[in-house]
Amino acid sequence: MKFLATLALSLSLAAADKLPLNLSLPTDNTAIFDGKPEDFYMWVPRTFEGVTSRPWTAGQYGFVRTLRKTKDDGIVATQFHEGLDIKPVKRDSSNAALDEVRTIANGIVVHTSPNRGASNYGIYVVMEHDFGYGKIYSLYAHLAKITVEKGQSLASGDALGIMGYTGRGLNRERSHLHLEVNLMASDHYDDYIAAVGSVNTHGNYNGRNLIGIDASSLFLSHKANPAISIPTFLASASPYFKVAVPRKADLSLCQRYPWLKKGDHDAPSPSWEIAFTGSGIPLSIIPSHRDVKQPLVTYVRSTRSSHGYYTQKRLTGTGRNATLTNSGRNFIGLLTDKFKK
Ligand SMILES: [Zn+2]
Repeated sequence: MKFLATLALSLSLAAADKLPLNLSLPTDNTAIFDGKPEDFYMWVPRTFEGVTSRPWTAGQYGFVRTLRKTKDDGIVATQFHEGLDIKPVKRDSSNAALDEVRTIANGIVVHTSPNRGASNYGIYVVMEHDFGYGKIYSLYAHLAKITVEKGQSLASGDALGIMGYTGRGLNRERSHLHLEVNLMASDHYDDYIAAVGSVNTHGNYNGRNLIGIDASSLFLSHKANPAISIPTFLASASPYFKVAVPRKADLSLCQRYPWLKKGDHDAPSPSWEIAFTGSGIPLSIIPSHRDVKQPLVTYVRSTRSSHGYYTQKRLTGTGRNATLTNSGRNFIGLLTDKFKK
C-alpha cells in the first residue's frame, strides 16, 4: 500500500509538474513584447547630482533606483524594485487611468486589501497560483478599485480591479500597476512579526513576506517557450551569496518549494547551505558538512564596493568578505523558521 501511495503521489506530482503557466499580461499594455520598454514602464522622478529626470528604467524589476556614486564600481542603483510598474494605456478626461487589471495566470484570490492606507501598496490584491511545484503569488498594487472577492477562482486574463495611484508617493499622473510574481518566505509570517515586535494586517500576504522574481524576464521567457516552469526559469539565475544555517529540523521552505532541494537531503549533515540571488531569491538548499552555530556567509560574489548595495543591505563587507547585517539575520530567520512562536 505504501508503495502504491508513493507511486500515486509521484505520478500526480509528475502530472502536476506539467501544468503550463499560461501567462497573460495584466493590462492592455503589450509594449514589453513590441520592443518598446519605454512605453511599458512608468517613469520614476529622479534627482541625481543636481539633475532631475524621469527614467522609465526605474520602473523595471531589479536594482534600478537610488543611484549612488561609488569609488570602485561607478554609479550603482542600490534600491531594489521587486515588481514591474506598468503604464496605463487608457485615461479619462481628468487623466485618471481606466485600465482593467487582470490576473496573469489561473489562480485563487487569497488576499484583498481595500484600505488604501493599510499598506505602501495602497489597494492591492494577491493571487495564489499552483502549477504543481509550490504556490506562486502574483500581487497587483496601487489599484483604484478591487472587483473580486477573497476565495474567488479566476482564469488567466480575468479582471480583478482597475488601475489607480493608491499607496505611498504616487499621484494621478503616475498611475500605474505594480505587478509582482513571488515566492512565499514563511507560511507563519504573523509569528515572525510578533517575534520582532511589529504589526501586520496582511497575514502571509504582506509584501515583506513575498520574494519577487523577475516578472518581465518570466513573461519574455514564457513567450519564447510556453512550456517553461518557474523552477526552470530560476535555474538560470546565479547566486550572489550563500549562507549555512544549523540543521535542526526540515526547513518548511523545502516543503513549500521542493525543487530548491539539491543533494541528498536524507543523509544527515550538520547544516544546510542556502544559495541566494543578490535580492534574496533562494535558488538551492544543499546539505553541508560545515558545523555552524548560527547563520554564516559561506560564499559571496566578489565586488569592489560594499555588498550592502547589491543585497538590499542584508550583507556588509567588500570583495570576498561578507557578513550578515541585522536585517540579513532577520531575513534568514524568517526563511528558516528561527524565531520564537
Ligand atoms: Zn513599483
